[in-house]
Amino acid sequence: QDTQHVQQITVLGATGSIGTSTLDVISQHPERYQVFALTAHSRIAELQALCLRHRPRFAVVADAAQGQRLQSDLRSAGVKTEVLSGAQGLCAVAAHPEVDAVMAAIVGAAGLESAMAAVTAGKKILLANKEALVMSGALFMRAVHEHGAQLLPIDSEHNAIFQCLPCNYAEGLAPLGVRRILLTASGGPFRNSSYAELEKVTPAQACAHPNWSMGQKISVDSATMMNKGLELIEACWLFAARPEQIEVVIHPQSVIHSLVDYVDGSMLAQLGNPDMRTPIAHAMAWPERIASGVAPLDLCALARMDFIAPDLQRFACLRLAIEAAQAGGATPIVLNAANEVAVAAFLQERIGFTQIPQLIEDVLNSAVVSQAQNLPEVFAVDQLARQHANVWLNKQSVNVGVGS
Ligand code: NAD
Ligand code: MG
Repeated sequence: QDTQHVQQITVLGATGSIGTSTLDVISQHPERYQVFALTAHSRIAELQALCLRHRPRFAVVADAAQGQRLQSDLRSAGVKTEVLSGAQGLCAVAAHPEVDAVMAAIVGAAGLESAMAAVTAGKKILLANKEALVMSGALFMRAVHEHGAQLLPIDSEHNAIFQCLPCNYAEGLAPLGVRRILLTASGGPFRNSSYAELEKVTPAQACAHPNWSMGQKISVDSATMMNKGLELIEACWLFAARPEQIEVVIHPQSVIHSLVDYVDGSMLAQLGNPDMRTPIAHAMAWPERIASGVAPLDLCALARMDFIAPDLQRFACLRLAIEAAQAGGATPIVLNAANEVAVAAFLQERIGFTQIPQLIEDVLNSAVVSQAQNLPEVFAVDQLARQHANVWLNKQSVNVGVGS
């Protein structure tokens, strides 16, 4: 341990919920980890504060003009961080030869290109951005193998499954004696709400998750249960599973993060307090273990755990995602793109909560779905689906106008 090289870490999406938790774990182990690069989209002041604190070699922002301002502010503060911008900047810090590990924690399709850049550079990639696998699972997994990258799941469920599987899981589940994977879901804030109540849900209510504190997009995804659908697709790619081998079970306490059911009747689970620093620390240190700052689980205080089957009628997003997983090909790209547009429209109060699955289903039905063989084709399908979704939204506002 004492002669160990200090690992250089790039945190893509450093100002977000996962980014912040990652920096917290890094700060607890300065002898093991050093921040190499930090990136942010719009919260420049926060990024600046992070640069003062962590002194990275590079910082990346979306906009070049904002980048120049940040650069001069940092210089005046005596910080030597070099500021880059745009997609090129993101890919450069993900693939830089001095980087050991990349935390891919940008939200949505915007995170795919830089995550892929880390993979093709053969990095250790800590994958929080589930949308990357939903959009391009086949390409992504192939690139991981071709470039010798090491893929470690950060999503708590997938990290739990990873911990419950033997390390040769990549060869497929059947030879390991795995019967199925049980993906646990909290059920979100509206687990017990009627459909009539769901129709009146506000963005603030949807973002108030009972167990986890997360970014807005994934909070809404959790409330619609699209998050569990995206995770089912993510799990299929990570663990070479078919959709039928994965079962979703609602577990409101979010203490069991997922389970693996073996043919001999053994069921292995990973438990812990709902705090993302546990899967982050696990993936960062794997195969070793390091402290994460998370308190041990108090089973007697917890006292009980509940399990309920999901309701695919009230939570139509989960049904749509399972169907997209079964359809395969480019369908999950369409699902993801339509969902991103729908969630943004819901957060802007342009559509209601129950219109999220309506929009997605209509886009899935209207889009001409093909295969996507490379990243440009993936982004072409993504863009087309977004166009369909925006047409849907515009029709909707015309209808609202006529009605009122
Ligand atoms: P967040 O909204 O809190 O943070 C998102 C980060 O991405 C921010 O740093 C932001 O600056 C950056 N970003 C946003 N749009 C961007 C763009 N267009 N280009 C470049 N950067 C951009 O999100 P989060 O909750 O931290 O989630 C990040 C990812 O991790 C998501 O894919 C989410 O599904 C996944 N994830 C999150 C949690 C969680 O507990 N928050 C758990 C599991 C998985
Ligand atoms: Mg999760």
